[in-house]
Amino acid sequence: MSTETTNKDILRGGQFLVKETKCEDIFTLEDLSEEQKMMRESTKEFVDRELWAHWERFEKKDYAFTEETMRKAGELGLLSVAVPESYGGMGMGFVSTMLVCDYISGASGSFSTAFGAHTGIGTMPITLYGTEDQKNKYVPRLASGEWFGAYCLTEPGAGSDANSGKTKAVLTEDGKYYNITGQKMWISNAGFCNVFIVFARIEDDKNITGFIVENDPSNGISMGEEEKKLGIHSSSTRQVFFNDTKVPVENMLSTRGNGFKIAMNALNVGRIKLAAACLEAQRRVITEATKYANERVQFKTPIINFGAIKAKIANMATNCYADESASYRAAKNIEDRIAIREAEGNSHQEAELKGVEEYAIECSILKVAVSEDVQSTTDEGIQIFGGMGFSADTPMESAWRDARIARIYEGTNEINRMLAVGMLVKKAMKGHVDLLGPAMKVADELMGIPSFDVPDYSELFSEEKDILARLKKVFLMVAGSAVQKFGPELENHQQLMLSASDILIEIYMAESAILRTEKNAKRFGEDHQATQIAMSKLYLYTAVDIVIQKGKEAIVSFAEGDEQRMMLMGLKRFTKYTNQPNVVALRTQIADKVAADNGYTFD
Ligand SMILES: Cc1cc2nc3c(=O)[nH]c(=O)nc-3n(C[C@H](O)[C@H](O)[C@H](O)COP(=O)(O)OP(=O)(O)OC[C@H]3O[C@@H](n4cnc5c(N)ncnc54)[C@H](O)[C@@H]3O)c2cc1C
Repeated sequence: MSTETTNKDILRGGQFLVKETKCEDIFTLEDLSEEQKMMRESTKEFVDRELWAHWERFEKKDYAFTEETMRKAGELGLLSVAVPESYGGMGMGFVSTMLVCDYISGASGSFSTAFGAHTGIGTMPITLYGTEDQKNKYVPRLASGEWFGAYCLTEPGAGSDANSGKTKAVLTEDGKYYNITGQKMWISNAGFCNVFIVFARIEDDKNITGFIVENDPSNGISMGEEEKKLGIHSSSTRQVFFNDTKVPVENMLSTRGNGFKIAMNALNVGRIKLAAACLEAQRRVITEATKYANERVQFKTPIINFGAIKAKIANMATNCYADESASYRAAKNIEDRIAIREAEGNSHQEAELKGVEEYAIECSILKVAVSEDVQSTTDEGIQIFGGMGFSADTPMESAWRDARIARIYEGTNEINRMLAVGMLVKKAMKGHVDLLGPAMKVADELMGIPSFDVPDYSELFSEEKDILARLKKVFLMVAGSAVQKFGPELENHQQLMLSASDILIEIYMAESAILRTEKNAKRFGEDHQATQIAMSKLYLYTAVDIVIQKGKEAIVSFAEGDEQRMMLMGLKRFTKYTNQPNVVALRTQIADKVAADNGYTFD
């Protein structure tokens, strides 16, 4: 572990809400090592050469092309970045694996889904939970791309309620095999994979169990036709049927009944990597939209000169910048936590599991925020292209369709929103994050007389950071009194949970953008970071609006009388700007820079 890691105060997952993070303590894309930068460049080159140049083939449901390109990725080592060296991988850190997921996503959702399903949920359960024999047998082949993996959790009757699957695993009389029977659906990579991670129930166990199952049609495995999908046209998605499929007992993953835990932990990793996989997709859409807007002339002027288009470009760039900032901040937290656990004597396997689990809240936040931003960015991308955006001959149309799935898989955004708040409340109950103390302080503050002093906001981001600290109070005020009122029943008040979650998400995303820019302004100068400063301010401005809306919705719905009045006054106080930013000027400044660079250049 580096001294840098040990010396830093690494916050636990969810603690960002109650402890101050210094800008020096967050990792940013500008902190990439030379090796990581080289890896980014080679991933980009791969995308330009093998994917972007052929994006139309992905739209024509050329599944074989996806498989062929996955093999090429394997030859270049891109499938093995997260795999430990002892199993044929590169054994690189969490940030590097995020980088590859990020930059490989630029051309086609079909490819990034195939890549994510294979390297993430198709391989990780074995590297994280497999025995030595299982890892030696399967992981090197998966890492090289000789074999491909798929993950079979979902069933016709078990989607979000993943632990309710009906697939059965029955031990044979000789005790050597499990016979697996059941139907799985929506299985990515099913059409070309060699290994399935299958979740099935043994007898009437409360929880499902994980198995490694080799794809052998002579062993009772058959497939449905390729699903006809809205997007990700060349990602193979099929139903998989298991009919008395014989699986050696030594292929059980971890222990009996531990499958739900495996499935959820695989999804934690999957969620943050899915967020990464929505980043380069956004950057390329912004760049293509900007190029188009610079060239397209209407009313005798390039459309980029219209305020309506500038506003779109500025919002798209701003969201992408915040998404990058938050994704890499969390990725490095995970990497550091893994290093700490390894230094404490945990195996890499245990350390990685616990490291990611620690930041499950942040993983859910990122999954929701970034998947929704890639959706709005591709939508505005189409709008900037006008009629041409609606044409299948431009990449905007497929980007828009491909983006849609990100809100559904790896746990729907509704489920992830509720998970984020639910996990935070659980952590507070366990004493891992002290929410109660700060929430009580906020309650006291609400009863007190507000200060009428005008603070000194002359330093960069001093007002913004003050506002951020107050937005955290809004969350504590809303969530704190909701927990007090409903206790464990809170999870049944979903609309309240969703409002609280939106507040939480906005706080994390806005704070990440501001801290990244503050760190960079300190080392590169404020002039150098002028656009990033504008983006951070614009992001916060929008975040404050969302917090006001969601906070109000929650307060008027569950609080009454004096309590309601007091909380509404608190909301007003906590979301107050002393110096309102000029939003139009910010957007114009951002859009002008993106237009001058002819694309997104902040990564
Ligand atoms: C293209 C594609 C690829 C996929 N790849 C894989 C794969 O490789 N492996 C795999 O195992 N699965 C895969 N999936 C399945 C995916 O993970 C599920 O579709 C997803 O988890 C949602 O489950 P569902 O479709 O059954 O929807 P449902 O669970 O039926 O949800 C329907 C709606 O109800 C909401 N909802 C459900 N429960 C609740 C609740 N408790 N509270 C509030 N709202 C709720 C959901 O948010 C959603 O809006 C894939 C799906 C698609 C479309």
